[in-house]
Amino acid sequence: PFDVLVVGGGPAGAAAAIYAARKGIRTGVVAERFGGQVLDTMAIENFISVPHTEGPKLAAALEQHVKDYEVDVMNVQKAVALKPANGDGLATVELENGASLKAKTVILSTGARWRQMGVPGEDDYRNKGVAYCPHCDGPLFKGKRVAVIGGGNSGVEAAIDLAGIVAEVTLIEFDSKLRADAVLQDKLHSLPNVTVVTSAQTTQVNGNGEKVTGLVYRDRVSGEEHTLPLEGIFVQIGLVPNTEWLKGTLALSNRGEIEIDARCETNLRGVFAAGDVTTVPYKQIIIAMGEGSKAALSAFDYLIRN
Ligand code: FAD
Repeated sequence: PFDVLVVGGGPAGAAAAIYAARKGIRTGVVAERFGGQVLDTMAIENFISVPHTEGPKLAAALEQHVKDYEVDVMNVQKAVALKPANGDGLATVELENGASLKAKTVILSTGARWRQMGVPGEDDYRNKGVAYCPHCDGPLFKGKRVAVIGGGNSGVEAAIDLAGIVAEVTLIEFDSKLRADAVLQDKLHSLPNVTVVTSAQTTQVNGNGEKVTGLVYRDRVSGEEHTLPLEGIFVQIGLVPNTEWLKGTLALSNRGEIEIDARCETNLRGVFAAGDVTTVPYKQIIIAMGEGSKAALSAFDYLIRN
């Protein structure tokens, strides 16, 4: 059996594997796609001490760093079930290919995915004007015009954040009113360069083949279509944790995130979790790496006590 079995090969899983392997214990990583969301990212400018890198480059570096250690990397393998330890003290992770892996401790780091609008042009212009993370990509739109899609807390927070950087923000909400907390809405309405459009359904992302040039929305009351000329679109309609396979196995928040404490422990003994899949606030690469390291140290601590 593994001493530490990490499920997920993004920044959190890679950090967990390296920290575990450096303790000289038997470590494995199962990943559907090693690199995780980083593979879908272009410019990364907030990975502290590295002023600029690109997603595929950072993902390759993560994999190389893990492979510098004796880690059993099982890439392109999907976990479909977790069976908590019973008498023998070993948890079981079942894979889609039928195999099952046993481990004294498990670190869950299966990440999350941004909910997409699903409109024409969105895929074509991802990272070319269509963005999902204001902390990451906001500064790329300095002095430009952007829309934020979604009027929940994350959309309104994004609009307030972006208003301090970009020239103009249009917040587009499908419903007839915003759903964000009142204090956020008050702040939003106090900003001179923010326009709020409600009852609006985004129907298309326009571009010139290289970059976003605008978006089309339909007024859900009048049925009229409008085109907004702009350079950026921040989609803020939800970050979905990859925990479908864990429902009913361990404690999840009402958003489906794995509940953890300050040591990355879940409610199951010997099972830890790290990164975007958890309740940790702020989903960022540097945070996921810190959390993965913490989870591995907690797993090691658990192993020496049990
Ligand atoms: P993920 O990166 O989501 O990795 C999850 C891993 O688990 C993957 O290997 C996945 O294949 C695997 N997995 C999922 N389900 C299973 C399963 N059932 N079985 C086995 N494996 C599974 N952050 C920044 O700090 N700076 C940026 O500039 C930045 N830009 C971004 C741009 C985009 C377009 C996106 C989408 C995100 C961006 N982020 C950025 C956010 C950052 O990528 C995430 O916070 C970070 O990758 C989270 O790491 P993680 O390891 O928790 O999860």
